[in-house]
Amino acid sequence: MTVHSTKAEAGRKPNLFHFTRAPRPMVDRADGIYLWDKTGRRFIDGSSGAVNVNVGHGNRAVIDAMKRQMDRVSFAYTIHFESEPAVELARELAERLPNGLERIYFVSGGSEAVEACLKLARQWAVATGQPDRWKIIGRMPSYHGITVGSLGVTGDDVLTKTFEQMGQPMPLIPAPMVHRDNDNLSLEQRGLRFADMLEAKILEEGPESVLAFVMEPIGGAATAALVPPDSYFVRIREICDRYGILLIHDEVMTGIGRTGKFLGGDHWNCKPDIISLSKGLSSGYAPLGALAATQRIVGPVLEAGGFLHGHTYGGNPVACAAGLAVLGEVDRLGLVDNSAVMGEVLKGELEALTKHFPFVGDVRGKGLLLGAELYADPVTRTPLPPEKNANVRLIDLAFERGLIVYSRRVRGGPFSDNFMVAPPLIVTREEIGEIVSLLGDTLEALAAELDLPVNR
Ligand code: PMP
Repeated sequence: MTVHSTKAEAGRKPNLFHFTRAPRPMVDRADGIYLWDKTGRRFIDGSSGAVNVNVGHGNRAVIDAMKRQMDRVSFAYTIHFESEPAVELARELAERLPNGLERIYFVSGGSEAVEACLKLARQWAVATGQPDRWKIIGRMPSYHGITVGSLGVTGDDVLTKTFEQMGQPMPLIPAPMVHRDNDNLSLEQRGLRFADMLEAKILEEGPESVLAFVMEPIGGAATAALVPPDSYFVRIREICDRYGILLIHDEVMTGIGRTGKFLGGDHWNCKPDIISLSKGLSSGYAPLGALAATQRIVGPVLEAGGFLHGHTYGGNPVACAAGLAVLGEVDRLGLVDNSAVMGEVLKGELEALTKHFPFVGDVRGKGLLLGAELYADPVTRTPLPPEKNANVRLIDLAFERGLIVYSRRVRGGPFSDNFMVAPPLIVTREEIGEIVSLLGDTLEALAAELDLPVNR
Protein backbone atom coordinates (compact mmCIF):
# COMPACT_ATOMS: atom_id res chain seq x y z
CA MET A 1 0.00 0.00 0.00
CA THR A 2 1.46 3.34 -0.93
CA VAL A 3 -0.79 5.50 1.24
CA HIS A 4 0.95 5.91 4.58
CA SER A 5 0.23 7.24 8.02
CA THR A 6 0.72 10.89 8.84
CA LYS A 7 4.01 12.52 9.89
CA ALA A 8 2.68 12.83 13.42
CA GLU A 9 2.62 9.04 13.65
CA ALA A 10 5.99 8.44 12.04
CA GLY A 11 8.70 7.38 14.44
CA ARG A 12 6.28 6.89 17.28
CA LYS A 13 6.05 3.41 18.82
CA PRO A 14 2.48 2.22 18.20
CA ASN A 15 0.21 1.28 21.06
CA LEU A 16 -2.81 0.29 19.00
CA PHE A 17 -2.70 -2.97 17.15
CA HIS A 18 -4.97 -4.42 14.48
CA PHE A 19 -5.36 -7.65 12.54
CA THR A 20 -3.62 -6.03 9.59
CA ARG A 21 -0.02 -4.85 9.65
CA ALA A 22 -0.38 -2.67 6.59
CA PRO A 23 0.01 1.03 7.31
CA ARG A 24 -3.15 3.04 6.83
CA PRO A 25 -3.78 6.76 6.50
CA MET A 26 -5.08 8.73 9.46
CA VAL A 27 -8.74 9.49 8.87
CA ASP A 28 -9.76 13.09 9.35
CA ARG A 29 -13.40 13.57 8.36
CA ALA A 30 -16.21 12.11 6.31
CA ASP A 31 -19.31 13.27 4.50
CA GLY A 32 -21.85 11.36 2.40
CA ILE A 33 -20.00 8.62 0.51
CA TYR A 34 -16.56 10.24 0.99
CA LEU A 35 -13.82 10.10 3.62
CA TRP A 36 -10.71 12.32 3.83
CA ASP A 37 -7.40 11.63 5.51
CA LYS A 38 -5.24 14.12 7.41
CA THR A 39 -3.29 15.00 4.28
CA GLY A 40 -6.50 15.97 2.50
CA ARG A 41 -6.71 12.90 0.26
CA ARG A 42 -10.26 11.90 -0.60
CA PHE A 43 -11.57 8.32 -0.67
CA ILE A 44 -14.88 7.09 -2.06
CA ASP A 45 -16.43 4.66 0.39
CA GLY A 46 -17.41 1.96 -2.09
CA SER A 47 -17.75 -0.54 0.73
CA SER A 48 -19.73 1.61 3.22
CA GLY A 49 -16.94 0.91 5.71
CA ALA A 50 -17.55 -2.74 6.60
CA VAL A 51 -20.80 -2.65 4.59
CA ASN A 52 -22.42 -0.86 7.49
CA VAL A 53 -22.60 2.88 6.82
CA ASN A 54 -25.97 2.56 5.10
CA VAL A 55 -27.16 6.16 5.59
CA GLY A 56 -23.76 7.58 4.65
CA HIS A 57 -21.23 9.58 6.64
CA GLY A 58 -21.91 12.81 8.51
CA ASN A 59 -25.70 12.45 8.66
CA ARG A 60 -26.93 15.46 10.69
CA ALA A 61 -30.18 13.88 11.90
CA VAL A 62 -28.33 10.92 13.40
CA ILE A 63 -25.60 13.05 14.96
CA ASP A 64 -28.12 15.47 16.47
CA ALA A 65 -30.28 12.65 17.86
CA MET A 66 -27.22 11.15 19.55
CA LYS A 67 -26.18 14.53 20.99
CA ARG A 68 -29.68 15.12 22.37
CA GLN A 69 -29.64 11.68 23.98
CA MET A 70 -26.18 12.24 25.46
CA ASP A 71 -27.37 15.48 27.00
CA ARG A 72 -30.18 13.60 28.75
CA VAL A 73 -28.57 10.28 29.72
CA SER A 74 -25.69 8.46 28.07
CA PHE A 75 -25.83 5.24 30.03
CA ALA A 76 -28.33 3.48 32.24
CA TYR A 77 -27.87 -0.20 33.00
CA THR A 78 -30.60 -2.34 31.42
CA ILE A 79 -30.90 -4.31 34.67
CA HIS A 80 -31.93 -1.07 36.41
CA PHE A 81 -33.79 0.98 33.79
CA GLU A 82 -35.72 0.96 30.55
CA SER A 83 -34.70 3.71 28.16
CA GLU A 84 -37.00 5.44 25.70
CA PRO A 85 -34.68 5.05 22.69
CA ALA A 86 -34.41 1.28 23.28
CA VAL A 87 -38.16 0.81 23.73
CA GLU A 88 -38.95 2.95 20.69
CA LEU A 89 -36.29 1.37 18.50
CA ALA A 90 -37.65 -2.08 19.37
CA ARG A 91 -41.16 -0.90 18.44
CA GLU A 92 -40.02 0.68 15.16
CA LEU A 93 -38.02 -2.40 14.23
CA ALA A 94 -40.85 -4.80 15.01
CA GLU A 95 -43.13 -2.75 12.74
CA ARG A 96 -40.71 -3.22 9.85
CA LEU A 97 -39.88 -6.89 10.42
CA PRO A 98 -42.04 -9.58 8.81
CA ASN A 99 -43.72 -12.76 9.96
CA GLY A 100 -43.93 -12.24 13.70
CA LEU A 101 -40.28 -11.24 14.36
CA GLU A 102 -41.54 -8.95 17.10
CA ARG A 103 -39.40 -9.66 20.17
CA ILE A 104 -36.18 -7.63 20.09
CA TYR A 105 -32.99 -7.86 22.14
CA PHE A 106 -30.17 -5.32 21.77
CA VAL A 107 -26.42 -5.99 21.78
CA SER A 108 -23.40 -4.01 20.59
CA GLY A 109 -22.44 -5.62 17.29
CA GLY A 110 -22.84 -8.37 14.74
CA SER A 111 -20.82 -11.14 16.38
CA GLU A 112 -22.65 -10.51 19.64
CA ALA A 113 -25.97 -10.62 17.80
CA VAL A 114 -25.11 -14.02 16.29
CA GLU A 115 -23.92 -15.32 19.68
CA ALA A 116 -27.18 -14.16 21.21
CA CYS A 117 -29.20 -15.93 18.46
CA LEU A 118 -27.36 -19.20 19.11
CA LYS A 119 -27.89 -18.93 22.86
CA LEU A 120 -31.56 -18.03 22.54
CA ALA A 121 -32.10 -21.03 20.26
CA ARG A 122 -30.41 -23.32 22.77
CA GLN A 123 -32.44 -21.95 25.67
CA TRP A 124 -35.63 -22.43 23.65
CA ALA A 125 -34.73 -26.11 23.17
CA VAL A 126 -34.08 -26.60 26.87
CA ALA A 127 -37.21 -24.67 27.89
CA THR A 128 -39.39 -26.75 25.55
CA GLY A 129 -38.10 -30.13 26.78
CA GLN A 130 -35.61 -30.82 23.97
CA PRO A 131 -32.30 -30.65 25.86
CA ASP A 132 -30.54 -33.00 23.42
CA ARG A 133 -30.76 -30.43 20.63
CA TRP A 134 -27.62 -28.32 20.50
CA LYS A 135 -25.98 -28.58 17.06
CA ILE A 136 -26.28 -25.56 14.83
CA ILE A 137 -25.54 -26.30 11.20
CA GLY A 138 -23.75 -23.56 9.25
CA ARG A 139 -22.27 -23.30 5.75
CA MET A 140 -18.85 -23.38 4.10
CA PRO A 141 -17.78 -20.75 3.21
CA SER A 142 -19.55 -18.27 5.45
CA TYR A 143 -18.90 -15.51 7.94
CA HIS A 144 -20.97 -15.04 11.07
CA GLY A 145 -18.57 -13.26 13.39
CA ILE A 146 -15.26 -13.41 15.17
CA THR A 147 -16.08 -14.44 18.74
CA VAL A 148 -15.52 -18.06 19.75
CA GLY A 149 -19.21 -19.00 19.52
CA SER A 150 -19.94 -17.25 16.23
CA LEU A 151 -16.72 -18.72 14.76
CA GLY A 152 -18.21 -22.14 15.55
CA VAL A 153 -20.77 -21.66 12.76
CA THR A 154 -18.40 -19.76 10.46
CA GLY A 155 -16.95 -21.57 7.43
CA ASP A 156 -13.46 -20.15 6.99
CA ASP A 157 -10.54 -22.42 7.93
CA VAL A 158 -8.04 -19.61 8.42
CA LEU A 159 -10.24 -17.86 10.96
CA THR A 160 -11.51 -20.93 12.79
CA LYS A 161 -8.78 -23.61 12.98
CA THR A 162 -6.64 -22.02 15.71
CA PHE A 163 -9.61 -21.79 18.05
CA GLU A 164 -11.20 -25.16 17.41
CA GLN A 165 -10.42 -26.68 20.81
CA MET A 166 -11.73 -23.61 22.61
CA GLY A 167 -15.16 -23.50 21.06
CA GLN A 168 -17.50 -26.00 19.51
CA PRO A 169 -17.02 -26.31 15.74
CA MET A 170 -20.44 -27.01 14.28
CA PRO A 171 -21.39 -29.12 11.23
CA LEU A 172 -21.15 -27.20 7.95
CA ILE A 173 -22.80 -27.81 4.57
CA PRO A 174 -21.62 -26.24 1.30
CA ALA A 175 -22.90 -22.72 0.59
CA PRO A 176 -25.15 -22.76 -2.50
CA MET A 177 -22.52 -21.66 -5.02
CA VAL A 178 -24.83 -22.68 -7.84
CA HIS A 179 -22.96 -20.64 -10.46
CA ARG A 180 -19.92 -22.94 -10.25
CA ASP A 181 -21.54 -26.23 -11.26
CA ASN A 182 -21.03 -27.66 -14.73
CA ASP A 183 -23.98 -30.05 -14.68
CA ASN A 184 -27.08 -29.92 -16.84
CA LEU A 185 -29.35 -28.83 -14.01
CA SER A 186 -31.29 -25.56 -14.02
CA LEU A 187 -30.47 -23.00 -11.33
CA GLU A 188 -33.67 -23.90 -9.49
CA GLN A 189 -32.75 -27.60 -9.53
CA ARG A 190 -29.31 -26.75 -8.20
CA GLY A 191 -30.95 -24.70 -5.45
CA LEU A 192 -32.86 -27.82 -4.38
CA ARG A 193 -29.72 -29.94 -4.56
CA PHE A 194 -27.87 -27.58 -2.22
CA ALA A 195 -30.85 -27.31 0.15
CA ASP A 196 -31.12 -31.09 0.31
CA MET A 197 -27.56 -31.15 1.67
CA LEU A 198 -29.08 -29.71 4.85
CA GLU A 199 -31.37 -32.70 5.18
CA ALA A 200 -28.50 -35.11 4.52
CA LYS A 201 -26.43 -33.39 7.23
CA ILE A 202 -29.32 -33.48 9.71
CA LEU A 203 -29.71 -37.23 9.13
CA GLU A 204 -25.96 -37.77 9.43
CA GLU A 205 -25.78 -35.85 12.72
CA GLY A 206 -28.98 -37.37 14.13
CA PRO A 207 -32.12 -35.20 13.83
CA GLU A 208 -32.74 -35.27 17.58
CA SER A 209 -29.39 -33.53 18.20
CA VAL A 210 -29.83 -30.71 15.67
CA LEU A 211 -31.13 -27.41 16.99
CA ALA A 212 -30.91 -24.87 14.16
CA PHE A 213 -29.56 -23.91 10.76
CA VAL A 214 -27.89 -20.53 10.32
CA MET A 215 -27.45 -18.77 6.98
CA GLU A 216 -27.28 -15.35 5.42
CA PRO A 217 -30.13 -14.94 2.92
CA ILE A 218 -27.62 -13.33 0.57
CA GLY A 219 -24.10 -14.46 1.43
CA GLY A 220 -21.91 -11.42 2.14
CA ALA A 221 -18.33 -11.32 3.38
CA ALA A 222 -17.34 -14.91 2.52
CA THR A 223 -19.19 -15.32 -0.76
CA ALA A 224 -19.48 -11.80 -2.24
CA ALA A 225 -23.21 -11.22 -2.52
CA LEU A 226 -24.15 -14.82 -3.31
CA VAL A 227 -27.86 -15.04 -4.18
CA PRO A 228 -29.38 -18.53 -3.97
CA PRO A 229 -32.17 -19.52 -6.37
CA ASP A 230 -35.77 -19.18 -5.13
CA SER A 231 -36.12 -22.94 -4.71
CA TYR A 232 -33.38 -22.95 -2.06
CA PHE A 233 -35.35 -20.82 0.37
CA VAL A 234 -38.57 -22.82 0.06
CA ARG A 235 -36.82 -26.16 0.51
CA ILE A 236 -34.69 -24.98 3.46
CA ARG A 237 -37.77 -23.88 5.40
CA GLU A 238 -39.52 -27.18 4.58
CA ILE A 239 -36.57 -29.19 5.84
CA CYS A 240 -36.30 -27.14 9.05
CA ASP A 241 -40.02 -27.66 9.71
CA ARG A 242 -39.84 -31.38 8.94
CA TYR A 243 -37.22 -31.90 11.67
CA GLY A 244 -38.39 -29.24 14.15
CA ILE A 245 -35.22 -27.23 13.56
CA LEU A 246 -35.02 -23.46 13.98
CA LEU A 247 -34.05 -21.29 11.03
CA ILE A 248 -31.71 -18.44 11.95
CA HIS A 249 -31.09 -15.75 9.34
CA ASP A 250 -27.96 -13.70 9.86
CA GLU A 251 -29.09 -10.32 8.50
CA VAL A 252 -26.14 -8.42 9.98
CA MET A 253 -24.94 -7.35 6.52
CA THR A 254 -28.11 -7.79 4.46
CA GLY A 255 -30.48 -5.96 6.82
CA ILE A 256 -31.73 -2.36 6.92
CA GLY A 257 -32.23 -1.82 3.21
CA ARG A 258 -28.83 -3.00 2.00
CA THR A 259 -30.26 -5.34 -0.66
CA GLY A 260 -33.18 -3.18 -1.81
CA LYS A 261 -35.68 -4.61 0.70
CA PHE A 262 -35.70 -3.97 4.44
CA LEU A 263 -34.31 -7.49 5.07
CA GLY A 264 -32.46 -9.70 2.63
CA GLY A 265 -34.97 -12.47 3.36
CA ASP A 266 -37.86 -10.16 2.35
CA HIS A 267 -37.04 -10.86 -1.32
CA TRP A 268 -38.41 -14.36 -0.75
CA ASN A 269 -40.88 -13.67 2.08
CA CYS A 270 -38.70 -15.88 4.28
CA LYS A 271 -39.98 -16.94 7.67
CA PRO A 272 -36.93 -17.38 9.91
CA ASP A 273 -37.50 -17.99 13.61
CA ILE A 274 -34.67 -15.71 14.73
CA ILE A 275 -32.61 -13.06 12.92
CA SER A 276 -29.48 -11.12 13.79
CA LEU A 277 -29.06 -7.45 12.85
CA SER A 278 -26.23 -4.94 13.23
CA LYS A 279 -24.12 -2.91 10.75
CA GLY A 280 -26.73 -0.75 8.95
CA LEU A 281 -28.87 -0.63 12.10
CA SER A 282 -26.71 2.15 13.52
CA SER A 283 -24.89 2.77 10.22
CA GLY A 284 -21.61 3.04 12.09
CA TYR A 285 -22.65 5.93 14.34
CA ALA A 286 -22.54 3.71 17.45
CA PRO A 287 -21.87 0.05 18.25
CA LEU A 288 -25.29 -1.60 17.99
CA GLY A 289 -26.73 -4.98 17.12
CA ALA A 290 -29.95 -6.82 17.76
CA LEU A 291 -31.70 -10.11 17.54
CA ALA A 292 -35.34 -10.40 16.64
CA ALA A 293 -37.33 -13.57 17.28
CA THR A 294 -40.91 -14.76 17.27
CA GLN A 295 -42.92 -15.05 20.46
CA ARG A 296 -42.95 -18.86 19.91
CA ILE A 297 -39.21 -18.82 20.68
CA VAL A 298 -38.98 -16.03 23.23
CA GLY A 299 -42.10 -16.95 25.26
CA PRO A 300 -40.88 -20.28 26.67
CA VAL A 301 -37.41 -18.84 27.41
CA LEU A 302 -38.89 -16.00 29.45
CA GLU A 303 -41.29 -18.35 31.25
CA ALA A 304 -38.41 -20.68 32.12
CA GLY A 305 -36.63 -17.86 33.95
CA GLY A 306 -35.30 -15.48 31.30
CA PHE A 307 -32.61 -15.11 28.68
CA LEU A 308 -29.21 -16.02 30.16
CA HIS A 309 -27.46 -13.21 28.38
CA GLY A 310 -26.56 -9.56 28.77
CA HIS A 311 -23.77 -7.19 27.87
CA THR A 312 -23.01 -4.02 29.81
CA TYR A 313 -23.53 -1.97 26.66
CA GLY A 314 -26.53 -3.86 25.31
CA GLY A 315 -29.42 -1.45 24.72
CA ASN A 316 -27.19 1.56 25.30
CA PRO A 317 -29.45 4.63 25.04
CA VAL A 318 -27.10 6.62 22.78
CA ALA A 319 -26.62 3.65 20.42
CA CYS A 320 -30.38 3.08 20.34
CA ALA A 321 -30.98 6.80 19.68
CA ALA A 322 -28.61 6.45 16.73
CA GLY A 323 -30.53 3.39 15.50
CA LEU A 324 -33.84 5.18 15.84
CA ALA A 325 -32.56 8.17 13.87
CA VAL A 326 -31.08 5.85 11.23
CA LEU A 327 -34.48 4.20 10.68
CA GLY A 328 -35.99 7.70 10.42
CA GLU A 329 -33.43 8.64 7.75
CA VAL A 330 -33.92 5.36 5.88
CA ASP A 331 -37.63 6.27 5.61
CA ARG A 332 -37.23 10.02 4.99
CA LEU A 333 -34.66 9.56 2.23
CA GLY A 334 -36.35 6.48 0.72
CA LEU A 335 -33.13 4.51 1.07
CA VAL A 336 -34.60 1.03 0.63
CA ASP A 337 -35.94 2.06 -2.77
CA ASN A 338 -32.77 3.96 -3.66
CA SER A 339 -30.77 0.83 -2.85
CA ALA A 340 -32.94 -1.18 -5.26
CA VAL A 341 -32.80 1.42 -8.05
CA MET A 342 -29.12 2.35 -7.74
CA GLY A 343 -28.27 -1.31 -7.27
CA GLU A 344 -29.65 -2.06 -10.72
CA VAL A 345 -27.62 0.81 -12.20
CA LEU A 346 -24.42 -0.34 -10.52
CA LYS A 347 -25.00 -3.98 -11.40
CA GLY A 348 -25.41 -3.04 -15.07
CA GLU A 349 -22.15 -1.10 -14.94
CA LEU A 350 -20.31 -4.02 -13.30
CA GLU A 351 -21.63 -6.38 -15.96
CA ALA A 352 -20.39 -3.96 -18.61
CA LEU A 353 -16.92 -4.03 -16.99
CA THR A 354 -16.75 -7.82 -17.40
CA LYS A 355 -16.82 -7.36 -21.20
CA HIS A 356 -13.60 -5.40 -20.96
CA PHE A 357 -12.07 -7.46 -18.15
CA PRO A 358 -12.88 -11.11 -18.90
CA PHE A 359 -11.17 -12.27 -15.69
CA VAL A 360 -14.10 -10.75 -13.78
CA GLY A 361 -17.12 -13.04 -13.71
CA ASP A 362 -20.39 -13.95 -12.05
CA VAL A 363 -21.54 -10.44 -11.19
CA ARG A 364 -24.32 -10.92 -8.66
CA GLY A 365 -26.18 -9.54 -5.68
CA LYS A 366 -29.21 -7.45 -4.96
CA GLY A 367 -29.65 -3.76 -4.22
CA LEU A 368 -26.35 -2.25 -3.15
CA LEU A 369 -24.80 -5.54 -2.04
CA LEU A 370 -23.08 -6.50 -5.28
CA GLY A 371 -20.14 -8.76 -5.94
CA ALA A 372 -18.16 -10.64 -8.55
CA GLU A 373 -15.37 -13.21 -8.76
CA LEU A 374 -11.87 -12.98 -10.18
CA TYR A 375 -10.92 -15.99 -12.29
CA ALA A 376 -7.85 -17.23 -14.14
CA ASP A 377 -10.34 -18.66 -16.64
CA PRO A 378 -13.93 -17.43 -16.38
CA VAL A 379 -15.26 -20.14 -18.72
CA THR A 380 -14.03 -23.01 -16.57
CA ARG A 381 -14.21 -20.76 -13.49
CA THR A 382 -10.67 -21.66 -12.53
CA PRO A 383 -9.54 -19.58 -9.54
CA LEU A 384 -6.41 -17.44 -9.74
CA PRO A 385 -3.44 -19.00 -7.92
CA PRO A 386 -3.80 -17.99 -4.25
CA GLU A 387 -0.18 -16.75 -4.11
CA LYS A 388 -1.15 -13.93 -6.50
CA ASN A 389 -3.13 -12.47 -3.62
CA ALA A 390 -5.49 -10.89 -6.13
CA ASN A 391 -7.96 -9.88 -3.44
CA VAL A 392 -5.35 -7.96 -1.45
CA ARG A 393 -3.90 -6.37 -4.60
CA LEU A 394 -7.37 -5.31 -5.74
CA ILE A 395 -8.04 -3.55 -2.43
CA ASP A 396 -4.64 -1.83 -2.47
CA LEU A 397 -4.76 -0.74 -6.11
CA ALA A 398 -8.26 0.66 -5.60
CA PHE A 399 -7.19 2.41 -2.39
CA GLU A 400 -4.25 4.06 -4.18
CA ARG A 401 -6.82 5.47 -6.60
CA GLY A 402 -9.05 6.75 -3.82
CA LEU A 403 -11.64 3.97 -4.02
CA ILE A 404 -12.51 1.60 -1.20
CA VAL A 405 -13.86 -1.83 -2.18
CA TYR A 406 -14.36 -5.01 -0.20
CA SER A 407 -12.40 -8.05 -1.36
CA ARG A 408 -11.67 -11.47 0.12
CA ARG A 409 -10.67 -15.00 -0.66
CA VAL A 410 -11.71 -17.66 1.79
CA ARG A 411 -8.91 -20.21 2.13
CA GLY A 412 -9.46 -23.89 2.69
CA GLY A 413 -11.69 -24.72 -0.27
CA PRO A 414 -12.02 -24.46 -4.04
CA PHE A 415 -12.78 -20.76 -3.74
CA SER A 416 -11.69 -17.87 -5.91
CA ASP A 417 -10.87 -14.29 -5.05
CA ASN A 418 -13.97 -12.16 -5.01
CA PHE A 419 -14.91 -8.56 -4.40
CA MET A 420 -17.93 -6.55 -3.39
CA VAL A 421 -19.02 -3.04 -4.22
CA ALA A 422 -21.47 -1.83 -1.61
CA PRO A 423 -21.62 1.97 -1.32
CA PRO A 424 -23.86 3.82 1.15
CA LEU A 425 -27.56 3.63 0.22
CA ILE A 426 -27.61 7.41 -0.42
CA VAL A 427 -25.38 6.96 -3.49
CA THR A 428 -26.38 8.90 -6.64
CA ARG A 429 -26.05 8.00 -10.33
CA GLU A 430 -23.12 10.45 -10.70
CA GLU A 431 -21.32 8.91 -7.74
CA ILE A 432 -21.83 5.44 -9.21
CA GLY A 433 -20.17 6.75 -12.38
CA GLU A 434 -17.19 7.87 -10.29
CA ILE A 435 -16.97 4.49 -8.51
CA VAL A 436 -17.12 2.52 -11.75
CA SER A 437 -14.55 4.69 -13.46
CA LEU A 438 -12.08 4.21 -10.58
CA LEU A 439 -12.88 0.50 -10.46
CA GLY A 440 -12.11 0.27 -14.18
CA ASP A 441 -8.72 1.95 -13.61
CA THR A 442 -8.11 -0.46 -10.74
CA LEU A 443 -8.90 -3.56 -12.80
CA GLU A 444 -6.68 -2.25 -15.60
CA ALA A 445 -3.80 -1.97 -13.10
CA LEU A 446 -4.57 -5.40 -11.62
CA ALA A 447 -4.57 -6.95 -15.11
CA ALA A 448 -1.19 -5.37 -15.88
CA GLU A 449 0.31 -6.48 -12.58
CA LEU A 450 -0.99 -10.07 -12.61
CA ASP A 451 -0.78 -10.51 -16.38
CA LEU A 452 -4.51 -11.03 -16.88
CA PRO A 453 -6.27 -10.64 -20.25
CA VAL A 454 -8.03 -7.40 -21.20
CA ASN A 455 -10.32 -6.93 -24.24
CA ARG A 456 -9.41 -3.78 -26.16
N1 PMP B 1 -22.51 -11.70 10.54
C1 PMP B 1 -22.32 -11.23 9.30
C2 PMP B 1 -23.17 -11.75 8.18
C3 PMP B 1 -21.35 -10.26 9.04
O1 PMP B 1 -21.15 -9.81 7.80
C4 PMP B 1 -20.57 -9.79 10.13
C5 PMP B 1 -19.49 -8.73 9.93
N2 PMP B 1 -18.86 -8.74 8.72
C6 PMP B 1 -20.81 -10.31 11.40
C7 PMP B 1 -21.79 -11.26 11.57
C8 PMP B 1 -20.01 -9.86 12.58
O2 PMP B 1 -20.32 -8.53 12.88
P1 PMP B 1 -19.30 -7.64 13.75
O3 PMP B 1 -18.12 -7.40 12.90
O4 PMP B 1 -20.09 -6.40 14.04
O5 PMP B 1 -19.00 -8.40 14.99
